Amino acid sequence: MRNIRIYPDPILRKKSTPISNATKETLDISQKMIEIMYANDGVGLAAPQIGISEQIITVDYGEGPMVLFNPEIIESSEEKNELEEGCLSFPDITVPILRPIKIKIKFLNEENKISELSIDNIAAKVFQHEIDHLNGILIIDHISSLKKAIINSKLKKLEKLYSAG
Ligand code: ZN
Repeated sequence: MRNIRIYPDPILRKKSTPISNATKETLDISQKMIEIMYANDGVGLAAPQIGISEQIITVDYGEGPMVLFNPEIIESSEEKNELEEGCLSFPDITVPILRPIKIKIKFLNEENKISELSIDNIAAKVFQHEIDHLNGILIIDHISSLKKAIINSKLKKLEKLYSAG
């Protein structure tokens, strides 16, 4: 996992700061994030995962790269389904997560304009996963203690690797 912060790095638990507007600096960060996302075969990346505690996410769910600043969910469907999710910050771990199927999000785009987007299915899961990262929420927060017990040895291994530096 090149350039990616791995669990239990404490930055993954910090709430990210909103950005006031899209500057050259934030655009440079998002460009770098897109490169890192592709280099690691990811479909989404949140700035804290590269050590930057700012509200920036990048996603590509098959429609090309997208950059979103300050994304927030403004509507979610009652209907939910479960999808197996992985995370670049949790190598070799996937867990089934129950989330709304459809959401509507609001964000600041690269041209400094407030935009809205309605998405469903896998794309909706990707956005929810990345927005979680901006709030310090990780995939292990969505699973039952039983499921957590199943992946516990993998988590312990990551914790050991982290403390070994
Ligand atoms: Zn993730």
